[in-house]
Amino acid sequence: VYILAIESSCDDTAAAVLKNDKVLSNLVARQSIHEEYGGVVPELASRAHQQNIVPVVDMALKKAGINKKQLHGIAFTQGPGLMGSLLVGSSFAKSFSMALNIPLLAVNHMQAHILAHFIDEEGYDKPTFPFLALTISGGHTQIVKVSGFFEMEIIGETTDDAVGEAFDKTAKILGLPYPGGPLIDQFAKEGNPKAFLFTKPNVDGLNFSFSGLKTQILYFVQKNVALNPNFIEENKADICASVQNIIIKILMDKLKLAVEETGINQIAIGGGVSANSGIRNTLKEAETKYGWKTYIPKFEYTTDNAAMIGIVGYQKYLHNQFENTSVVSKARIEF
Ligand code: ATP
Ligand code: FE
Repeated sequence: VYILAIESSCDDTAAAVLKNDKVLSNLVARQSIHEEYGGVVPELASRAHQQNIVPVVDMALKKAGINKKQLHGIAFTQGPGLMGSLLVGSSFAKSFSMALNIPLLAVNHMQAHILAHFIDEEGYDKPTFPFLALTISGGHTQIVKVSGFFEMEIIGETTDDAVGEAFDKTAKILGLPYPGGPLIDQFAKEGNPKAFLFTKPNVDGLNFSFSGLKTQILYFVQKNVALNPNFIEENKADICASVQNIIIKILMDKLKLAVEETGINQIAIGGGVSANSGIRNTLKEAETKYGWKTYIPKFEYTTDNAAMIGIVGYQKYLHNQFENTSVVSKARIEF
């Protein structure tokens, strides 16, 4: 079965071709325009999607070495995401499925971040159900109990900012360009994670909160810059390492609680922030430290990509979960 997948929920236009659960091509057209604005500008994102979508799909098919007539289905991101961005992907997918007379498969972006683990890769062990997924991205922070491909229950989530925002806003405070998460990761490698102490927010149960941490970091930096204008430059690596350290602690605390409460000790991470090397290392260590089995996706399947949309599309195809062309994009959706 050949599936073409489109992802256009935010600022990257992505297309992939899968043969069953294997990825034949997986392309992303990044939109650098947003860097100038320090964040994603929705209006500019949808325009760029319109320019990029046809060439990206074309290239994905070429790279996969197949003709569009060989496709069995077309998967697209239904939501959550920016409405103007989602509409470009869904309109394209609808037209393409009509023209080729093949099934249309609507995919939940957050489920896709989780199910990316089921992409068949040589040497990659897939999780077995049930497992816990920690989905950490630019817009979400969730702990999900995953009992089957489409049986998911959110057992904890952020009550305010997402963890990706905590990274990006910290980067902004330090004068780093958007998106700053990967840069903090890079600087943190050279720094001392215990150089500066930040406190964890007090949130009951499995929920998270990151807005207080952001304010704490802002006041900390402002106070120190007032005393020494070169404070950021002189301490960049240590600040990044310390911030990353507290974020990892917050995530690990809740994961430990989730394992305790559910009795499930298989942990899979997903979403853009799971590209973070500190988080990846800490989770690997948890295997020996706590006896967990952890699943860490390949980098290209962590940040937004179409291969993850394709793997969900493939599962939907197998289960005959097709949509007709009246299906609507949704800026927010639950599972
Ligand atoms: P959502 O999936 O919630 O709709 P999104 O699709 O915009 O949000 P992703 O592409 O999944 O988000 O993730 C982007 C986020 O990941 C950004 O906040 C970015 O800074 C962060 N990120 C990417 N790489 C790293 C890294 N190495 N360390 C920390 N954060 C990172
Ligand atoms: Fe995402």
